[in-house]
Amino acid sequence: MHEILDHLAEGARVLDLGSRDGSFSAGAYPHLVVVSVDLKSSRGPGRLVQSDAAQLPFRSRSFDAVLLNHSLEHFEQLKRALQEIGRVVKQDGAIYAAVPDARTLSDRIYRKVYADSGGHVNLFGSESELARMLSWYFGLPHVATRVLCSSMAFWNSRNTKDIVVQRQMQLPSVWEPLLAASVGALRLVDRVFHTRAQVYGWAFYFGTVGEAVDTTPRVNVCVRCGQAHASDGLVDRGVVRKRWIWFRAYRCPDCGASNFFADDLAGQ
Ligand SMILES: [Zn+2]
Repeated sequence: MHEILDHLAEGARVLDLGSRDGSFSAGAYPHLVVVSVDLKSSRGPGRLVQSDAAQLPFRSRSFDAVLLNHSLEHFEQLKRALQEIGRVVKQDGAIYAAVPDARTLSDRIYRKVYADSGGHVNLFGSESELARMLSWYFGLPHVATRVLCSSMAFWNSRNTKDIVVQRQMQLPSVWEPLLAASVGALRLVDRVFHTRAQVYGWAFYFGTVGEAVDTTPRVNVCVRCGQAHASDGLVDRGVVRKRWIWFRAYRCPDCGASNFFADDLAGQ
């Protein structure tokens, strides 16, 4: 989503909709006016507003950008919410929407691990149909899609210690090193058999996006914090180390967790 946020002018208004912990850190874009909205209490950056996405308490055409970071799958009244998003975004605005592909292994496991399918009430399975539908509701052209990979961080035993989270779990969590090895193995399966075992979903870009979106999937997703990093960026930062004979590993620059490393491959 930095392809949108990096290019917004001073004082531009950003709506971070339905992402409880916020789609980016509060201090990352101090020149933007950010409004974080969630049905429950939000912990996102900027001004916090508790509201249903199907009835947004904002004037029409009042936001330069809208972020829908893993939120569309949770909206009970999806079409009403999409209409509202299309209403509040400016005609020359931009929208970022990340959603799971319900056919993937990662999303199937997520919906098994957590009660009530982890709150996923909308299941999406067609990239082209979804892009067309969102573009129509938003009134903005679809400009790019990047395939998202999973680290299954939602299953990491370090991330599920909270008693509230544990009460929602229907399957036991997984020890982090074992999860990292499993994710590395899934990536190997994808490379050898051209499968989509590590794929999670899609990131769609609509409207006026300030720069060309690099659509190469980022396969290095942290097993603990879930942050995706471009492989070139990890090499440049000097966090990639050789392990054993041919395996390489990297220490996540955001949280310090150890992960197996692989080069990003365009067109994967
Ligand atoms: Zn991390």
